[in-house]
Amino acid sequence: MKIVVTGGAGYIGTHTCIVLLEQGHEVVIVDNLCNSKPVAVERVRELSGKDVAFYEKDVCDGEAMREIFRKEKPDAVIHFAGLKAVGESVEQPLRYYENNLGSTLTLVRVMEEFGVKNIVFSSSATVYGDVENPPLREDAALPNHAACPYGTTKLMIEQILKDYAVAHEDFNAVLLRYFNPVGAHESGRIGEDPAGIPNNLAPYIMQTVVGKRDKLHVFGNDYPTPDGTCIRDYIHVVDLAEGHAAAVKLFEKDGCGLRIYNLGTGKGYSVMEVLKAFSEAAGQEIPYVIDGRRDGDLPESYADCSKAKEELGWVAKKSLQDMCVDSLRWQRQNPDGFGE
Ligand code: NAD
Ligand code: UDP
Repeated sequence: MKIVVTGGAGYIGTHTCIVLLEQGHEVVIVDNLCNSKPVAVERVRELSGKDVAFYEKDVCDGEAMREIFRKEKPDAVIHFAGLKAVGESVEQPLRYYENNLGSTLTLVRVMEEFGVKNIVFSSSATVYGDVENPPLREDAALPNHAACPYGTTKLMIEQILKDYAVAHEDFNAVLLRYFNPVGAHESGRIGEDPAGIPNNLAPYIMQTVVGKRDKLHVFGNDYPTPDGTCIRDYIHVVDLAEGHAAAVKLFEKDGCGLRIYNLGTGKGYSVMEVLKAFSEAAGQEIPYVIDGRRDGDLPESYADCSKAKEELGWVAKKSLQDMCVDSLRWQRQNPDGFGE
């Protein structure tokens, strides 16, 4: 299939492009580089040995998207493009609603105009909020809004795609709810490259290992969990990428309609367990300090992944140790990420 990958220069997008190219798909990346660098696209070409079309365009720009669809005639779209920083979304809600909702509305409109009926959308475990206890199933009741505007954009986009699918019987939309992506391609050539001080646990630990940060700040050790720190379902980014390739296979059969799948491992690890795993992989102690709780954090979140296993034939294969080893290889080989 020929697949337009919006946000394909980003962390999950680059890894997914590699897997799609390995499986014989053609990939067209559309990314405005607001949170990525052109060298990431070069590395996708290098690792795959394939020519990958790249358009530095904003998905909110309808005319630019029409031009791309006219030229490329894609069969499907994977929509990664979006802003994703929780704290920033609290400070700049309009920017988040404009970019995340605007890009999706424009994209679906252009898909309709060009008769493209297949989309995979990057949703998030954040849509579950705190309504139900883990393991979280896809049929769980969802809250009206998430803990931050970023999360609420995911809830709203899910609803837009659900409503659109009701109105258009031949529309196929696969909503993938990611848990916590960690790790990097085993070559060490691509990986996560956060701008500024990392918000997420794994990048912060990785930067502490290479000396860019003094110590990890553990946000709270008084949660009702065995060691008092929060539990999350960390998933290797290459497993996540393979989940997208499995979702695309649904489009090759008859129409799949609207589907929702969790992509996680089904197993939760605490902050202290993750820190220990990184310490072992790095072969060094990683300094840390216990701080207060971070607003909006839930004690525990992990997936029930049985639906993806049954319907997509997909399971996460890589361990927490793999995530740590691969992340550190990327971080050590590229201490400044993709550079300036
Ligand atoms: P990322 O920031 O590395 O990648 C997103 C890419 O989209 C970036 O390259 C950015 O430049 C691009 N982009 C943003 N807005 C755009 C626009 N309007 N037009 C064109 N390009 C645009 O993030 P990621 O971690 O790879 O995440 C990919 C998707 O997965 C996002 O939608 C994110 O919300 C979602 N997600 C990520 C996580 C995570 O922890 N990484 C968890 C759940 C869901
Ligand atoms: N966390 C932490 N220190 C950090 C970053 C995160 O202790 O510098 C904790 C955070 O409180 C949460 C877990 O690590 O319990 C995972 O946080 P992350 O931001 O990576 O993912 P999310 O909150 O989206 O699940």
